[in-house]
Amino acid sequence: MPDARAAQVARISGMPAYEALCAEAEADFEGYWARLARENLQWSRPFSQTLDESNAPFYQWFADGELNASANCLDRHMGTPAEHKTAIVFEADDGTVTRVSYRELLERVSQFANALKAQGVQKGDRVVIYMPMTIEGVVAMQACARIGATHSVVFGGFSAKAVQERIIDAGAVAVITANYQMRGGKELPLKAIVDDALASGLCTTVRQVLVYERTATACAMQPGRDKTFAEVMAGQSKDCAPVAVGAEHPLFVLYTSGSTGTPKGVQHSTGGYLLWAKLTMEWTFDLRPDDVFWCTADIGWITGHTYVAYGPLAAGATQIIFEGVPTFPDAGRFWQMIERHRCSIFYTAPTAIRSLIKAAEGDAAVHPDRSDLSSLRLLGSVGEPINPEAWMWYHRHVGGERCPIVDTFWQTETGGHVITPLPGATPLVPGSCTLPLPGITAAVVDELGHDIPNGTGGILVIKRPWPSMIRNIWNDPARFKKSYFPEELKGFYLAGDGAVRSTDRGYFRITGRIDDVLNVSGHRMGTMEIESALVAKTDLVAEAAVVGRPDDVTGEAICAFVVLKRPRPTGEEAKQIAKELRDWVAKEIGPIAKPKEIRFGDNLPKTRSGKIMRRLLRALAKGEAITQDTSTLENPAILAQLSQTN
Ligand code: ATP
Ligand code: MG
Repeated sequence: MPDARAAQVARISGMPAYEALCAEAEADFEGYWARLARENLQWSRPFSQTLDESNAPFYQWFADGELNASANCLDRHMGTPAEHKTAIVFEADDGTVTRVSYRELLERVSQFANALKAQGVQKGDRVVIYMPMTIEGVVAMQACARIGATHSVVFGGFSAKAVQERIIDAGAVAVITANYQMRGGKELPLKAIVDDALASGLCTTVRQVLVYERTATACAMQPGRDKTFAEVMAGQSKDCAPVAVGAEHPLFVLYTSGSTGTPKGVQHSTGGYLLWAKLTMEWTFDLRPDDVFWCTADIGWITGHTYVAYGPLAAGATQIIFEGVPTFPDAGRFWQMIERHRCSIFYTAPTAIRSLIKAAEGDAAVHPDRSDLSSLRLLGSVGEPINPEAWMWYHRHVGGERCPIVDTFWQTETGGHVITPLPGATPLVPGSCTLPLPGITAAVVDELGHDIPNGTGGILVIKRPWPSMIRNIWNDPARFKKSYFPEELKGFYLAGDGAVRSTDRGYFRITGRIDDVLNVSGHRMGTMEIESALVAKTDLVAEAAVVGRPDDVTGEAICAFVVLKRPRPTGEEAKQIAKELRDWVAKEIGPIAKPKEIRFGDNLPKTRSGKIMRRLLRALAKGEAITQDTSTLENPAILAQLSQTN
């Protein structure tokens, strides 16, 4: 066994190494995972059983082992070269830069963990975290993990109602928040929203609200319930022994982004989750000791959990955390920050790329070509399928045609990457997430779980359990079983996405959500295909979303919602551009894919994590009123605009 003190960095160099790991997993599935878990995590009590399938689909991994997630992210680096290495480079909205080393981060986490204990927070309690992107946000998460409390981070853009629902569902005993957050030069209240959420009197479990004073502006404080960070940290020791928990202990509950339905409280484990956070951080990003990693996701999303709060720390990496927005003070902020901090690995979402393309094409001053991006060696994409046009732009203008792009497919439920290229190993194809990571038994099947030949579209499943998989939907085991392990699918994990594998290499391409498959006159098409075709009209189209609506003649009709690179057209101009786009799609894909209707908007309805909410567009296309859950919708005003036909 390797020296447990030294930070082991796992690497897959080249296709033969990848294939060897796949073969190992196939030959001895449990032995493979057990080896990785022993080599990559520090256990305070070793596990004796790797996988327990006796109560499937409630799988258990490493169940009798004990460990602490925070110890595996921080303490493990003490006495190694990482101890005094920069863990976090924090750039505030106003450009102020703060750095903390692993040693300093451990002390801050320990001190805050002691403060939580002193406030009566205990192992097994749930704590809601409603914080801006700050070092303190990560400290709060790590401190909960350190004392065995289960955190539930709620994105700082959510309303009081959304905060309230999550507090109630999770049964939180405490809320950790900030007085304000800074975004785009504006000071926005956070604590006041928590006050609103609690004012209903429905959040009966909450005893405390702990407030990080991000800015000097005062906020209302309720005596007895509310305390500042400064108050609770005063006099607390910077030493706090991590509490060992069982590997299956819920590290966190995170509500999904809600782009397809009402958000679900996805419950993750400690051992299996952390194993995959560390390994994928190292494998997918081919992490080296001197890398400067930047994942732009907010800690309110799974990407900000796995690739900000846990993965980079478990792997001993230096990472950038950014408080603000990509368009402030101008839309060149990301590129300027990459230059300023000599970022080497940049990981962001297609929605951000598409909006920055639009900005750069409109204003040369914010074009990535204006910044020195030579420090970059690897780019990543996550959250939605990346259309080939955006991929090419990212590759050319950000990656200087030299950086591989890892198009990482995964979900809140998978805990970490499941299908992704490995830099330097997997030959890349734009728009394809390529191959499953070793041990992930991804497949494309039909409605009954039978394998489908390559080249034919079907349902994406994962056939066997894996350590970082969702353990339950908080408070709703019945929904867990029904959503992810429907009976007809042979016990496979149902991802909810459609996929097709290429006939040459067996590469996976995600075709969109299963319920986004259109059937027009008997022809099945993924919405993604038509969207990609529209966005390929680069002189005109910035963004597009396609949905189906019932049609008497063709079964389903295609309705496209389009954002142009010019102001939203109306009247004759709209009609003429719509015709041009219809003809374009007919030429790109075929006449069958021609949208029956095209509507133009200034934007599309998106979740606060930037994903297009096609379920709302489906209602608009049908001319229905929106009665669905819109708690995660970023820009409600856009719905009225898009409900109008040209
Ligand atoms: P909800 O499940 O609450 O409706 P959501 O599925 O959007 O919301 P997430 O878990 O954040 O919530 O997103 C996972 C989904 O994002 C995947 O199922 C897939 O549709 C999409 N996705 C993520 N990464 C990629 C990728 N690289 N390529 C294609 N699609 C991706
Ligand atoms: Mg989902």
